[in-house]
Amino acid sequence: MKILKFGGTSVGSVENLNRVKAILTADQEEKIVVCSAMSGVTDQLVRLLENIRFGDTDAITRNLHRLENKHADVIDVLIEDLEVRNKLKDGLSIMITEMFEISSQQYSEEINSKIITYGETLLTYIFSGFLSATGVHNVLLDAKEFMYVDSIENPNIEKVGKKINKVLDKNIESSLYITQGFVCKNKEGQITTLKRGGSDYTATIIGAALHASEVQIWTDIDGLHNNDPRYVEQTYPISHLTYNEAAELAYFGAKILHPQTVSPVVDKDIPVLLKNTFDPEAQGTVISNRIHKKGLKAISAKDGITAIKIKSNRMLMAHGYLRRIFEVFDNFQTSIDMITTSEIAISLTIDDTSNLDHIVRELEGYAEITIEQDHSIICIVGESVINDRNSYKLFEILNYIPVRMVSYGGSNNNISILVDTKDKIPTLRFLNEKLFQTQEEAVV
Ligand code: ADP
Ligand code: ASP
Ligand code: MG
Repeated sequence: MKILKFGGTSVGSVENLNRVKAILTADQEEKIVVCSAMSGVTDQLVRLLENIRFGDTDAITRNLHRLENKHADVIDVLIEDLEVRNKLKDGLSIMITEMFEISSQQYSEEINSKIITYGETLLTYIFSGFLSATGVHNVLLDAKEFMYVDSIENPNIEKVGKKINKVLDKNIESSLYITQGFVCKNKEGQITTLKRGGSDYTATIIGAALHASEVQIWTDIDGLHNNDPRYVEQTYPISHLTYNEAAELAYFGAKILHPQTVSPVVDKDIPVLLKNTFDPEAQGTVISNRIHKKGLKAISAKDGITAIKIKSNRMLMAHGYLRRIFEVFDNFQTSIDMITTSEIAISLTIDDTSNLDHIVRELEGYAEITIEQDHSIICIVGESVINDRNSYKLFEILNYIPVRMVSYGGSNNNISILVDTKDKIPTLRFLNEKLFQTQEEAVV
């Protein structure tokens, strides 16, 4: 069994859905296919949620009609048989009516999750119908029947496994299953999500739950690149990454992967392949536990970082003081990404600021607090990167860009620097030139 996940662009047009079909039918292996919403649709649903929040019924109507038309247009071009086409469009109308009904209710977290996950529901319904209409037998699975994820950080894989096996047992005649990414159910059995970009994570959770032979993540680029191709020219795909490297890069902003993508499959040693829907022959990236090459591999950047400086003349480093400070973050379930210390001050970073006010209020009991927002962590990643002879060059950045913090040696595989977000792109470009375009011979 293999798991194949197709992202928004891959399922974003008639032409691309045909590409996906060609990839799925290239061999007869048993597959579970996880699909995102068509590109742009989840963002449109976010706007719809704003309309619901403000009770703007005209905008809700306009938004839902636009959504229906977008999907109906796809059905029109995809499906030749008039009867099948009309049947699929009837199903689409029923779903849009459900969405109207939900949109008329008072905004709540539950309404939010119900609406935002419809993009995946609509697309998988159409795609499964299209495959069937063109003679590709498949079964559409409702992910809400098995994606029970009590804790997003630590999903109970066994529970998902039991539930999905039950669903599969009811459909043993098929070797191709289509399901939705992103959506899941929480402890209370309510619909929720794996956060934006979460379909990658759906794929690896299912992969781990079913002990799949591999998980393939099909997207619009030929693998994970050594730097962010949205901001830096002359990046290149990396053929092999270890789980550690991929986890660091995903957590620290490499958009190609949801931050938690690799965690479910690491213990089970299931490889994750990153492949390009538009160039299926391209090698892409293989993520596994094999170290192919040590040293510097890639750079990523994570935005939305807040730096907190905690300064105290009262023996900051004295026994027990740090514990009390960390307890404050723990009490407010806020994780810390970077940390540096001196005798009288600690600087640390967080990305979740939902409890920042409470945290600051408590910390002010012990120390003087300074907050700096709109920062980015730039992360330089590779197995043993701290031993890479080229890595020292990154410190030349200090000549050009004000660096707020540096974290070196916390792990052998990651060097992080914190800069103001306005300096992120120049930093990524500078590091690209220094670290990748003037490589001295090999590493470690
Ligand atoms: P999907 O919709 O298939 O999930 P995403 O947009 O989430 O696709 O991820 C693919 C995009 O990630 C690429 O088009 C690219 O712009 C961006 N990206 C950012 N950093 C990297 C990187 N290091 N390597 C490859 N792509 C990256
Ligand atoms: N459609 C969702 C999003 O845009 C999930 C995903 O694509 O992975 O965030
Ligand atoms: Mg994505």
